[in-house]
Formats: sequence, structure tokens, C-alpha cells
Amino acid sequence: MDIVSKEIRSRMMSGIKGKNTQPEIMVCKLLHAQGFRYRLHVKSLPGKPDIVLKKYKICIFVHGCFWHRHCQCKYTTTPTTRAEFWSKKFGQTQARDKKTLRYWPVKDGE
Ligand SMILES: [Zn+2]
Repeated sequence: MDIVSKEIRSRMMSGIKGKNTQPEIMVCKLLHAQGFRYRLHVKSLPGKPDIVLKKYKICIFVHGCFWHRHCQCKYTTTPTTRAEFWSKKFGQTQARDKKTLRYWPVKDGE
């Protein structure tokens, strides 16, 4: 069910379009302010990490609420129109995330 107004919806949509989604920009700004140097959307690495800190051998995947479907997240909304289209899109993203996680296993506490 869609829980946000039309106005907020359109603002959210403009925020999630394209490569540089809002959360990603925030992470980049933070890293940059701390003096880190990074590369964006590195195609040569599995899953095309959003941000790569080569010097530290760190890959960062910025997973926004909407596309990556956070469990029980209030920002993970589902548009009411074109339900089939969105469910297909979300399925593709989740399948891709699952595949990427196999290359970059996340260990608790690290
Ligand atoms: Zn979320």
C-alpha cells in the first residue's frame, strides 16, 4: 500500500532516479569531507560497487530503501500504479543484490 502523498511521492521519485541517488550522495559527501578518495560505480568489480576505496580495499554498496526493499522500513514504499511493473523491477534488484552478496559476504561485527 502506498502511504505517502502524491507530492512526496514525486519528490521521492526524482530522488531515486538515475545513478546518484540521494543516500549515495550523502555517503560520498561524508567520505570526501573526511579526506577519503574513491571511485564510483566500478564496473570491473563484481556487483559494480557504488563506492570503492581502493587504498583501503573497501567496497561500499549504498542500498536505498525503495529499490533495495528494506524489510519493515517505513521508506520502503510500493507504488499503487503499475503493480506488475514494480514487482518485476524489485524482483530484479533483489536477485542482483543476492548475487552480489555472494561475492562480498558481510560478516557480523565487521
Ligand atoms: Zn530503509
